[in-house]
Amino acid sequence: MADYRNLIGGKLVPAADGKTMNSVNPATGEVWTTIPASGPKDAEAAVAAAQEAFPHWSAMPALGRAYFLRKVSELFAQHAEELARLETRDNGRILRDTLKKDLPGMSHLWQLAAGQCLDAVKGDTVILGPDALGMTRREPYGVAVCIIPWNSPISTFSAKAAFALAAGNTVIVKPAEQASVSVLRLGELLAEVFPPGVLNIVSGMGEDVGDALVRHRGVGKISLTGSTVTGQAITRASADSLKPMTFELGGKSPNIVFPDADLEAAAQGITVNSIFTGNAGQVCVAGSRILIHRSIWDEVLERTQRIAESLILDEPLDLATTMGPIVSAGQYERVVSYLEVAEKEGAELVFGGRTGAEVVPHLPGGYWVSPTLYTTGDNGLRICQEEIFGPVAVAIPFDTDEEALAIANDSPYGLAAGLWTRDLGRAHRFIRDLRSGTVWVNTFRQMPPGLPFGGVKDSGYGHDSVLAYTREKAAIIQI
Ligand code: NAD
Repeated sequence: MADYRNLIGGKLVPAADGKTMNSVNPATGEVWTTIPASGPKDAEAAVAAAQEAFPHWSAMPALGRAYFLRKVSELFAQHAEELARLETRDNGRILRDTLKKDLPGMSHLWQLAAGQCLDAVKGDTVILGPDALGMTRREPYGVAVCIIPWNSPISTFSAKAAFALAAGNTVIVKPAEQASVSVLRLGELLAEVFPPGVLNIVSGMGEDVGDALVRHRGVGKISLTGSTVTGQAITRASADSLKPMTFELGGKSPNIVFPDADLEAAAQGITVNSIFTGNAGQVCVAGSRILIHRSIWDEVLERTQRIAESLILDEPLDLATTMGPIVSAGQYERVVSYLEVAEKEGAELVFGGRTGAEVVPHLPGGYWVSPTLYTTGDNGLRICQEEIFGPVAVAIPFDTDEEALAIANDSPYGLAAGLWTRDLGRAHRFIRDLRSGTVWVNTFRQMPPGLPFGGVKDSGYGHDSVLAYTREKAAIIQI
């Protein structure tokens, strides 16, 4: 039996056919624990449990649901250290981030979702004439399947499950095969909080248990945070049952530095706040294309290099560490392959490009890649167009605002963009004209609750919120 278990119908259970899979510590490359490798039978059991729990959970007054969500918030506060350490060991995201940023943020997020339970039951009234009244009511979809990636499991779990539950859905969460442990541990804790079947968690491969869940006709809503390829696969697999979807997918976000910017703030913003720290660039909104005005080109590159080379790559559980490893052997090989692509494409290496034991000699089995920056004048290169999902950025020069905008928008993705300028008019023009879900001005990678977070083009559509987990019904009443 695996060290961790699924949560189905309020019970902690192994995969139905007993299969397990390893979880690897990416800092060392060593197997450190085992998780259930669930399949279609587990998907079936989870959907049945969620369907059974739905009538009671959805009929509960909004304030009743809020009571449960507040309990989750308290639980996050009580178990913050344990959950942060598990997640860091499992996916390499540095403890500095999991402990100091993610976990405190999750307590607040579940409180926020508790406060929004009432929004999910509000409707409109429309006077249609002296003797007729129209009204709307919001209803949950039923069973919501939330599929999450490995880079911030607890945060992504919360951003979906908290709002889906607040809206009255019952939920099945499918964590990523590379990093499920923090979410499975959370399942052990939450088994004590929710009535059986309200929240279910099943780990396993995407093409196995994930595919079975998205095809299931008993599922009413799907929310995925993951890659564009997975979004496309899920769309195809669920086509027969026409399920509503929320897709938060990949990105290749531009970070644009103008000559009037505070250049030190910009250098911080394009390095540690964007791509080189925390998750080692494995961040959907990573500013992986740095567009720099030609007049400040050398200065920005020098400042960027100084900051990047001051980062401490080491054991992620050490609070002094400022950048962690790549999550898995597969992802490491993918990132390394892009270093070869960059060389073949003739991009110029400014700094970095070191891998494995060259980076952290005392952790030789870990999946390490040093912060790496290339330059090129050609935004058409593969390293400018494809999501690498590692600490590898490319800088591109520009001369005019029009050119910067054209390069920024020349991407299949449209998740986020950053601007560094003191010119308010320019900031507003770029906010208007950039084709992306979020635009940051003189800051980067802030995703405060209360603002939508999602993408356009290949970065997906929709965003997680309490209303995204409801549909509207109309009623017309003749008096
Ligand atoms: P992934 O797409 O490989 O996997 C994401 C999840 O989907 C996993 O749980 C996986 O098991 C599941 N999955 C895979 N194939 C499936 C299938 N056929 N049916 C059902 N489920 C399936 O992504 P990843 O490698 O875990 O994460 C990295 C990707 O996620 C990057 O592209 C990144 O940009 C994106 N991401 C986006 C956001 C955002 O909010 N926009 C946030 C974090 C990560």
